[in-house]
Amino acid sequence: MPSQSIVINNQAQSTDIQSDSVAHVTELFSGIQGEGPYVGQRQIFVRFTGCDLRCQWCDTPASLVTSGSTKPVTIEKKAGERIFETAQNPLSVEFLASAIADLEIDIPHHSISLTGGEPLLQANYIKELIKSLKSNFHFKPAIYLETGGHRPNELKQIIDLVDYISFDLKLPSSTADKVLWKEHKEFIEVAKAKAGYAKAVLTDETLDSDLEMACEILAGALNKFDLVLQPAYRLSDKVKYNSPTPEQVLRWQSLAIGKLGRGRVKVIPQTHKFIGQL
Ligand code: SF4
Repeated sequence: MPSQSIVINNQAQSTDIQSDSVAHVTELFSGIQGEGPYVGQRQIFVRFTGCDLRCQWCDTPASLVTSGSTKPVTIEKKAGERIFETAQNPLSVEFLASAIADLEIDIPHHSISLTGGEPLLQANYIKELIKSLKSNFHFKPAIYLETGGHRPNELKQIIDLVDYISFDLKLPSSTADKVLWKEHKEFIEVAKAKAGYAKAVLTDETLDSDLEMACEILAGALNKFDLVLQPAYRLSDKVKYNSPTPEQVLRWQSLAIGKLGRGRVKVIPQTHKFIGQL
C-alpha cells in the first residue's frame, strides 16, 4: 500500500489536490449502469472521493467528504457477488489497476465508469491509471467518464484516453448550488472530440430559463450531444426539493425538443434505484 498521503480540501481548486501516484477512492465494484443512454450496460465502477459542488439531490454523500479523510475504500472481490474487502486510502495506481483488472477477469464489462464525487479533481492520477490499465493489463473495456461537466482544464488532461463522456449541465434552480454556465461551455468545447451525452436533473423548482440556457449551450456545440432529462429522485422526507410532477416533465421535454430538435431529448430516470442496484 502507498505511504504517501494527500489532503483533499472540499473547497479547493483541483491544482491543490492532484497527485500522479495516489488517489482517494470511495468504492470499486461491478454493477449496472442506471443512467443515460447506456443504461443497463455492465460496468466496473470506480467512485473517486471528493467533489467541489454540493447539488441538493446528491445521492453519493459518502464520496463528498475528503478533507483529511482516512476512510477506507470498499473493493468488490468477485464481480457481482457483493463480497467486499476494504483497503486503506489513498490508493496507488498499481493497486487500483490490479483490482480493476481482477473484476474484468470475472466478466467482460462494457466499460469502466470513472465516477464520483468529481473524478476530474484527480485527473493526473486518472491519466496514469488508464495508461497502466491499457499497457500493463491490455484492458479492453471502454473508458466511460461521469463528471459534473465543469472542469474543462482537467478534461483536457485525459480527453485522449477516454471513450465516452457523461456530463452534467447543472441547472442552478435544481442544484441550489453554483452557476456554472461558463465552465459548461468551455467543457463542451473540449468534450466534443469524443462521444457522450449531457444530463440535466430536474426538480419541481427547475426554472424554464435554466433549461433554455442548457439547451443553448448544447446547440452552440454543433449539436454534438443529445440531452437526457433526469427527474430528481427524492432521497428522503428530509430533503427540501420534490421530484417534478409528470406534467412538468412533459412540459420541460417539449421545451427542450423545441430548442434541440426531434429525437434529441430523452427522459430517463435513475433506473438502478428501482431494481435495488448499487
Ligand atoms: S456533482 Fe455529483 S457528486 Fe458532486 S455534489 Fe453534485 S451530484 Fe454529488
